[in-house]
Amino acid sequence: MRILTCCSEAYAQVDHLRRQGARVGFVPTMGALHEGHLSLVRRSREDCDATVVSIFVNPTQFGPHEDFSRYPRTFESDCAALRDLGVDFVFAPSAEELYPAGFSTYVQPPKVAERLEGKCRPGHFRGVATVVLKLFHIIPATAAYFGQKDYQQLLVIQHMVDDLNVPIRVVGCPIVREPDGLAMSSRNRYLSQAEREAALSLWKALTAAQSALSSGQRDARELEQLMQTTLYTQGADRIDYAVVADPASLEPVSQVDRPAIALVAAHVGKTRLIDNLLLQP
Ligand code: AMP
Repeated sequence: MRILTCCSEAYAQVDHLRRQGARVGFVPTMGALHEGHLSLVRRSREDCDATVVSIFVNPTQFGPHEDFSRYPRTFESDCAALRDLGVDFVFAPSAEELYPAGFSTYVQPPKVAERLEGKCRPGHFRGVATVVLKLFHIIPATAAYFGQKDYQQLLVIQHMVDDLNVPIRVVGCPIVREPDGLAMSSRNRYLSQAEREAALSLWKALTAAQSALSSGQRDARELEQLMQTTLYTQGADRIDYAVVADPASLEPVSQVDRPAIALVAAHVGKTRLIDNLLLQP
């Protein structure tokens, strides 16, 4: 496994592989890797001839009062895990490498970015879309692997790639959870033992909505109310949103007569967590 920090070197390596006819899979991450990330790597290894993982904590997708400076950075153990999985290249640029002095061009994210995370985290998807498009140019891969954990982000990337004719296949992969249901997240490292319990309120809210739907409650507002109540009674400190939406557009739905996506974002102590579940009527 080779670790690359320079954009032109990364491009040259991947371009060389592609010219030889190799399928190259790409997994963009911010590091602090867990089984969720590793599931994307395994999928890329199955589908492709070579796999590139990027590790970059992208400053432009964090708000001024968010956790950029304290975001967990575990580069050595990340590389050990990726080496064990048979990853070919790790691309780990510095912030100056991706955003040199004078950098001033940004991607205007698609409409699907406007709601939910886009409302709660102004500028977040602009930063995500910009860094991902840059990475797609630096790593001209065949396919890129993203988790459904960041459901809206996956839609944003899919729309960007379609709208801007980016020649890469975007593959969405299932959420990996702890045995009790908590979605794996690098931010789970922030949680104390008591907060870890309270963090399960997100999964409890989502499964409560699915249970109510299965028992015949198809009214989306009622399901949202149930998620809110469950979040608060099970330990969330503050809710950013708890919604039932169309899985393609993220527009609100009134009745769940076909699959809908339930999405939640809530704060537990100082930690902001998100999760989602596809509701099946
Ligand atoms: P991050 O390092 O948080 O930027 O995440 C990198 C990629 O891993 C994104 O595509 C995430 O959606 C994905 N990911 C994060 N957590 C999980 C999880 N629990 N299950 C599946 N994919 C995940």
